[in-house]
Amino acid sequence: MSVAVRFAPSPTGLLHVGNVRLALVNWLFARKAGGNFLLRLDDTDEERSKPEYAEGIERDLTWLGLTWDRFARESDRYGRYDEVAAALKASGRLYPCYETPEELNLKRASLVSQGRPPIYDRAALRLGDADRARLESEGRKPHWRFKLEHTPVEWTDLVRGPVHFEGAALSDPVLIREDGRPLYTLTSVVDDADLAITHVIRGEDHVANTAVQIQIFEALTNSEGGGVVPVFAHLPLLTDATGQGLSKRLGSLSVASLREEEGIEPMALASLLAKLGTSDAIEPRLTLDELVAEFDIAKVSRATPKFDPEELLRLNARILHLLPFERVAGELAALGLDDADAAFWEAVRPNLSRVAEARDWWAVTHAPVAPAADDPAFLAEAAALLPEEPWDLSTWGTWTGAVKAKTGRKGKDLFLPLRRALTGRDHGPELKNLLPLIGRTRAEKRLAGETA
Ligand code: GLU
Repeated sequence: MSVAVRFAPSPTGLLHVGNVRLALVNWLFARKAGGNFLLRLDDTDEERSKPEYAEGIERDLTWLGLTWDRFARESDRYGRYDEVAAALKASGRLYPCYETPEELNLKRASLVSQGRPPIYDRAALRLGDADRARLESEGRKPHWRFKLEHTPVEWTDLVRGPVHFEGAALSDPVLIREDGRPLYTLTSVVDDADLAITHVIRGEDHVANTAVQIQIFEALTNSEGGGVVPVFAHLPLLTDATGQGLSKRLGSLSVASLREEEGIEPMALASLLAKLGTSDAIEPRLTLDELVAEFDIAKVSRATPKFDPEELLRLNARILHLLPFERVAGELAALGLDDADAAFWEAVRPNLSRVAEARDWWAVTHAPVAPAADDPAFLAEAAALLPEEPWDLSTWGTWTGAVKAKTGRKGKDLFLPLRRALTGRDHGPELKNLLPLIGRTRAEKRLAGETA
């Protein structure tokens, strides 16, 4: 059977680094296995799901290069969930409950105060037809719980190894709300079964759900001849550098803000997230194919990985230093540097942590600069030795060789006044690369102390 995985975000907020790491791991798993990757929007929470979040998810995944082979939206599938719910009711696995949230809170509080786990007591199973009729005549509407088998639930998790739960230690989960709307615990299983998902790779916050969902898969198989229980992998969730969980509301760690405000390259984020929390070293990679080749879910460790924005920025810089012009031409044009070419990019990229910083160097090579010409006699001698154009990468060496021979200066005394006059700054990209971009006309004027 061919491998099929899914990434199933709820469009109730922006994707943050933690969510998108799970998307990436699923995608890498699929590509490595030659299988397929489904994007599924878990949008049955109609109050909180928003079309702009759904669009944001698609935009973020596309930006990272995580293309999907199949797409599904849970809100398109209510008919199917109703069908499955009807079958589960008929087989007695879904049973109606009438407790109000307040009554349930009281029950929980009383169990907890006795030092017992807050497991639902199945009082609703003891109701007779007359009790139910009376409750409904009082205006109560049922919600529906799934009757768990009180047997062990076991699976071999690709990250956690053997996992064991006792069915009796779990509460029968609510699968259908009072208003008839199905909940995630059910819809996810129906979709995974119908869409023949072979591996469910998600965060370890879902481990207890998995115990319950395995029983739902089995119940579907029994009533419908459908669901095969997938293989599960639960990854430890990313935390921030201090060990705190990343919440969806943490705007600064959203993929959108890393892209739009922090100037992070997609491959920097992918290179980091593919390796964080694994036994592989984090290294700059320029293509997803390289990450696919290196991917193995067995390398994912059970220890909590920490996401450090500084580490991401350092990796971004290392990636920029390697990226060829073609890969950034679009970004440079978007910055207004339409005329930037490979020579410019290669000159400035060693000095960049973010592509947008190229603007500063463009201003040095292509716009008037007020030079720091504080050694005029020396600069005049140097200017007189400027070779005729055309200039290339050897011009700087030829010229400064001549200046050195003529003035007897060397090292910092030779180079710093030239740099300050030519660029207006003490530091920057190698002048060998910048000089031909600045050109003779500008260079001559700047050496004469003129803004040019
Ligand atoms: N919509 C769920 C979430 O975002 C999906 C979890 C799952 O992968 O099953 O947590």
